[in-house]
Amino acid sequence: MDNAGTTKMAEECLKVYRKYACEEFFNPSALSSESNQIASLLAETERLFLAKLGASDGNVLFTGCATESNNLAIKGSIRKGDWEYVFSVGEHPSVYNVAKKLEADGYKVIFLPLEKDGRVNLQYLEEVLNEKTRLISIMHVSNETGAINDIEKISKIKEKFAPKALLHVDGVQAFMKIPVVLRKTAVDFYSFSAHKIHGPKGIAGLYVKNKGGLKELFQGGGQQYGLRSGTENVPAIMQFRKAVELVNIEKNYEKVKNLKKCFAEIVAAGGVKCADFAGSPYILNLVFDGVKGETMLHALDQNGVVIGLGSACSAKKAGNRVLEEIGIAKDVIISSARVSFSANQSVEEIETAARIVVETYKHIKEKVS
Ligand code: PLP
Repeated sequence: MDNAGTTKMAEECLKVYRKYACEEFFNPSALSSESNQIASLLAETERLFLAKLGASDGNVLFTGCATESNNLAIKGSIRKGDWEYVFSVGEHPSVYNVAKKLEADGYKVIFLPLEKDGRVNLQYLEEVLNEKTRLISIMHVSNETGAINDIEKISKIKEKFAPKALLHVDGVQAFMKIPVVLRKTAVDFYSFSAHKIHGPKGIAGLYVKNKGGLKELFQGGGQQYGLRSGTENVPAIMQFRKAVELVNIEKNYEKVKNLKKCFAEIVAAGGVKCADFAGSPYILNLVFDGVKGETMLHALDQNGVVIGLGSACSAKKAGNRVLEEIGIAKDVIISSARVSFSANQSVEEIETAARIVVETYKHIKEKVS
């Protein structure tokens, strides 16, 4: 029940790895005909990803993780001068901590507050944007709450108030889960990751609208338009492609919506509160009145149900920055936990998990009261 943390890789991806690691293992930058074939395959794969992103122009870079994609988009956009960098406070640590570092290094960084429903406050966005804004970074779907930011609306605000600014969107919890149509937006960079959609770990992507607007983070052989040097991880890229090809966004969306409803009904009947953040069906926040979320996590772990407390990267730290920023009371945050769904789960699995959650909660509550 922690699919926003990571997912189980689809079996189909294993065969793909073998093919491109042990048989068609050639370096796409070399000059042999085999290498040329791999280079063409990568070009075709890039086009496929652009189509999945609904982009009519631009490029896709393959990176080692979305953390790298986020770092590349942000750090690669920094320029000397009196520029301003705008971030939402609700960002994943792979964006938020980069913003904090920029601030510590003396850059002018502005943080956007969140609304009660978990989305970015767009009124505030309008107010802070100006001709000095260099970069805006706002996530598409929150990994903590599932809240969906309207990137078309954000694009319009950017075009009106800061037309020269670059727009980065962390799309990790949105890609292949909700429709993404970048051609309808002014998005310059869009990050996404394979291991959230039943692909392998260690491979991710960054959509780049205009290559000229980005600087590379490290120098090397000049692969991937000089923006991400290093021999391409062809087997993993092809596994990522396979994972993408296995997804039917609409069908999965409907299925997961039903799984979430089913789970929420059972746990709510058992006294567990479900927080209502309008957004992705893939994520649900729970509040266990009178019991710590962490206590529930460990007890459920013993009972065979894996849940999350939020971002895996921050799970070991106390509190929850994003829920705090939304204005949720400290005692409620302490009692909160996150469950997240996958279309590969069955209704039976979800019902069983929900029942175990209820039984575990009742058992602990009786003990503490
Ligand atoms: N951004 C969001 C919204 C995430 O949920 C995650 C993963 O938890 C990341 C970025 C980081 O992705 P990766 O694990 O590929 O570095």
